[in-house]
Amino acid sequence: MHGPEYRMHHYSEATDELADAIFAAARKRISEEPVPLDSTSTDEELAAATGATITPQGLGGHEALRIFDEILAPSCLSVDYTKYLSFVPAAPTEASVLFDVLVGASSIYGGSWIEGAGAVHAENEALQWLVDIAGMPVGSGGVFVAGGTIGNLSAMVAARGRAESRLNAAGLERPSRWAFLAPRTAHSSVASAARVMDADVIQVEVDDDFRMTGEAVADVLASEGYRVAGVVATGGTTNLGRIDHLADIGRVCREEGVWFHVDCAYGGAAMAAPSTRPLFHGIELADSYIVDPHKWLFAPFDCCALLYRDPAAGRSAHAQHAEYLDFLDGWGEWNPSDFAIHLTRRVRGLPFWFSLATHGTSAYAEAIEVTLRLTQIAAEKIRAANHLELAIEPSLSVVVFRRKGWTAQQYQDRSIDMMNEERAFVVPSRHEGEPVYRFCFVNPRTTGEDIDDIIDALV
Ligand SMILES: *Cc1c(COP(=O)(O)O)cnc(C)c1O
Repeated sequence: MHGPEYRMHHYSEATDELADAIFAAARKRISEEPVPLDSTSTDEELAAATGATITPQGLGGHEALRIFDEILAPSCLSVDYTKYLSFVPAAPTEASVLFDVLVGASSIYGGSWIEGAGAVHAENEALQWLVDIAGMPVGSGGVFVAGGTIGNLSAMVAARGRAESRLNAAGLERPSRWAFLAPRTAHSSVASAARVMDADVIQVEVDDDFRMTGEAVADVLASEGYRVAGVVATGGTTNLGRIDHLADIGRVCREEGVWFHVDCAYGGAAMAAPSTRPLFHGIELADSYIVDPHKWLFAPFDCCALLYRDPAAGRSAHAQHAEYLDFLDGWGEWNPSDFAIHLTRRVRGLPFWFSLATHGTSAYAEAIEVTLRLTQIAAEKIRAANHLELAIEPSLSVVVFRRKGWTAQQYQDRSIDMMNEERAFVVPSRHEGEPVYRFCFVNPRTTGEDIDDIIDALV
């Protein structure tokens, strides 16, 4: 007896043709030099251009691909465009994006060891490198999650779990509200995580260079200590590239027995570069840290590494238990789903692993150094330009500068013009309440001429 008649899952000559078409489109995108910035569109414009795409009969793969290639993809900004310098851009290696195609084709469930052993082993090798560059002890480990936001939230939940179990062990009552310490320079995802957890963020002062100090942390802990579940420091603030005083803060956290989390979502890559590694002194004291390989470690979206000094703390906060999952528990190796807020997961660390395995860690160090040199070159050019001035000395790969004499509206308008001309994507930010422009360099392909062109566009 055969199964029912069925056609959708079926490898045929037509599939071969579609594969060729999709691989050709992917290859064209990867090989484009330069990558165009492309543009954005309104929903009405897109609807008019594509017509209905979800239909009872289906469009066929070639037509759906044509719509993507001709209409949808050009209506998305290319984050790896060399003059896309806003927010935190991305510059995945060819190796990583090519391998991402194979990851998608491999139908690997990345939540448990028994199902994804080979892939999880490789992910863990890549995670181990991130443990090593931070100087965290043997036994540290974690998991790749979708982004820094989920990474911070998962680490903060683990921190609260440990604080709770310590109170329980001491026979003490839990506080009516838990709190985390963080400075105002912390990423918005920290406040978001606290909201999800119904916890408070207590703001810690920063020094003149916008860095949180150990002393300030100690002061707040002295008054609020009983309800503090963790301290969240930043290794590379998104807006200014500042690194908090990690060694001092880490020492205070140790003394007080408070969880020390370091958000290195953007900046962590700089630990792999010899010239910037010393700035992270003290991170080896962290109970947890995150870094986004999709930012400055040349991996495609979406990929954040979350590392715990004591993975058991992550596991006890996050492991899910259910009848249908019992079978997975006997396998002592390493279930990635145990370490964050998720269960099913794509093995999203594999494109990063493949690129790292392909090129070697020295190539990574070199690529990051290239972006750091670009940062210095950009700062020099801004110092030399009459119409511009640095708002603050650059740190890591962030350059924040003013266009002398412009209002916030002029900043905004010029950014939109540059985007519409497909010339550059450089949007205004704010520093101390004033409008500024901000460059963030993560793309080693950006050149001095690219920077000159943007400086010219701001005359
Ligand atoms: C980007 C960033 C985040 C958020 O990461 P996502 O991957 O965008 O969720 C958190 N912290 C810092 C410092 C960041 O730069």
